[in-house]
Amino acid sequence: MDAKPYRVGRSHTGLGLFATMPIRKHALIVEYSGPRIPTAEAHARERAGRSKYMFEINRRWTIDGAGRDNMGRYVNHACQPNAESVLIRGKIFLKAIRRIHLGEEITYDYGREYVELFFKDGCKCAACRAR
Ligand SMILES: [Zn+2]
Repeated sequence: MDAKPYRVGRSHTGLGLFATMPIRKHALIVEYSGPRIPTAEAHARERAGRSKYMFEINRRWTIDGAGRDNMGRYVNHACQPNAESVLIRGKIFLKAIRRIHLGEEITYDYGREYVELFFKDGCKCAACRAR
């Protein structure tokens, strides 16, 4: 993961992460990085509307990905995504679930809980907008 295969760019909902080279299926794209905080605290902050960048590892620990150096936070949600999250030795990475083309936006499925909590007007991903 030395040469970054992505850049931050304009997406339909704000910023997003876009492929700057073709990414092969199963490749690790970017880490979702940040300090670990207790999951109970993460849930409290989310419910209070104070963070949208919590990534739950398990019932005990959550990554607080709000830091601007966390490139993973720019990856938007999609209901038909091209990446998924994987846990490797305690770290969260986004991994391509199919080949991603040059210029394509990188997305993963945030999960139903997140969508219900934060997408008050419903999901705006490409698949949902096409409906
Ligand atoms: Zn959607």
